[in-house]
Amino acid sequence: MDAEQLRENAHKMVDFIADYYKNIESFPVLSQVEPGYLRKLLPDSAPTHPESLQNVLDDIQEKILPGVTHWQSPDYFAYFPSNSSTAGFLGEMLSAGINIVGFSWVTSPAATELEVIVLDWLGKMLKLPEEFLSQGKGGGVIQGTASEAVLVVLLAARDKFLGRVGKNSLEKLVVYASDQTHSSLQKACRIAGIYPENCRLLKTDSSSNFALPPDVLSEAISKDIAAGLIPIFLCATVGTTSSTAVDPLPALGKIAKGNEMWFHIDAAYAGSACVCPEYRHCIDGIEEADSFNMNAHKWFLTNFDCSLLWVKDRNDLIQSLSSNPEYLKNKASDGNMVVDYKDWQIPLGRRFRSLKLWMVLRLYGLDNLQQYIRNHIELAKHFEQLVAVDHRFEIVVPRTFSLVCFRLCPPNDDHDHCNKLNRDLLDAVNSTGKIFMSHTVLSGKYILRFVVGTPLTEEKHVDAAWAVLQDEATTLLGRF
Ligand code: PLP
Repeated sequence: MDAEQLRENAHKMVDFIADYYKNIESFPVLSQVEPGYLRKLLPDSAPTHPESLQNVLDDIQEKILPGVTHWQSPDYFAYFPSNSSTAGFLGEMLSAGINIVGFSWVTSPAATELEVIVLDWLGKMLKLPEEFLSQGKGGGVIQGTASEAVLVVLLAARDKFLGRVGKNSLEKLVVYASDQTHSSLQKACRIAGIYPENCRLLKTDSSSNFALPPDVLSEAISKDIAAGLIPIFLCATVGTTSSTAVDPLPALGKIAKGNEMWFHIDAAYAGSACVCPEYRHCIDGIEEADSFNMNAHKWFLTNFDCSLLWVKDRNDLIQSLSSNPEYLKNKASDGNMVVDYKDWQIPLGRRFRSLKLWMVLRLYGLDNLQQYIRNHIELAKHFEQLVAVDHRFEIVVPRTFSLVCFRLCPPNDDHDHCNKLNRDLLDAVNSTGKIFMSHTVLSGKYILRFVVGTPLTEEKHVDAAWAVLQDEATTLLGRF
């Protein structure tokens, strides 16, 4: 790499990206292209001779950006957010610039040591029990996604139990969660070889606001034990994907521990809110947990990917995931003096992801991060109030964080028609390109999800989004 050429081109790229952010509101939030659009615009094969960066940038402007859905737009209210920030961006840039592969301590000591330290910092911000910090048997690690986090802890739990009850007992192992748990748990069960009929997704409903009732869990465990099965793993969620339900951790944790199960907490989205003292109670009960996960890349100003996993006993992960081939042996690892994160994850290679989180924590500080979360929650509250006074709409479940679940619900409308109406409304709203929202289904009801969570969203964007929703609803209702 030629340093001067890098300097010149990187300046151009930063200018390009800064202009992108300056003009981000001029793009349709949801890309409006048709499948296969890009093949028609690009040549059939790669160039034989080098092209100029300017040519590539022109193509990005004309051909790539139309096919981008703008997750950083202030008018983006879909799924859960995936934050970018100046600090996160700079950290990511630095990581790409240095481009190390830090699978063992020796391959870049700073990468491992910074990760240990930064996960301890954030663990303290979240007031995690001491056992999750690196001084004792526990510690934190950055995974790519929450899906990888739940997979590695499930593998650790599986192997721990198989060690106890015998390797031939795989078919007897049972995993529990609610039917609101993210689908990544089911995928993890499949990969871990848990029999599909032993992955219990226990029923929730509106009577518990879609949180997992402890008595439902107890009953399921008792039944399984009576049938000769072995309960090994409970995944509770703080902030479910559909409606941000918070499972009752203290009661669930007690049941899990009473049955000697692994207790995992998935707080992929809502974990960020728990750095605010007024939301910390959402993870009360974490004392009983074996592992805890939150995605800093969702709602914590840290660019994708950065999923944080803490465990109380790192040896459980290492027992399950370590490998020690001759070609990776080194003095520090052999001497047991260091953390080798390759043994806490699925792949061998790993990026220097702690840099961006470190930069986010340092360049914003806890006060600003708390303020950031609170502001989004206030904006969601504001949106909820707007919905509540329009009698054509209803709020479907109480709001807890920055997600509002609601639907258009004209009086005397029947169930099927109401579902169709909301499907049509979502299509209409997203087709305007002015905002982007997503949906879910709860107890058979098709529901619109409005999540406030991008760094650029202000009250005026929320008001404008509500105006789009009201206009499209008026048009639709006029048609029926
Ligand atoms: N858990 C919850 C509660 C989620 O909402 C999501 C995604 O939105 C996930 C897990 C999966 O996240 P990832 O894409 O990091 O695997």
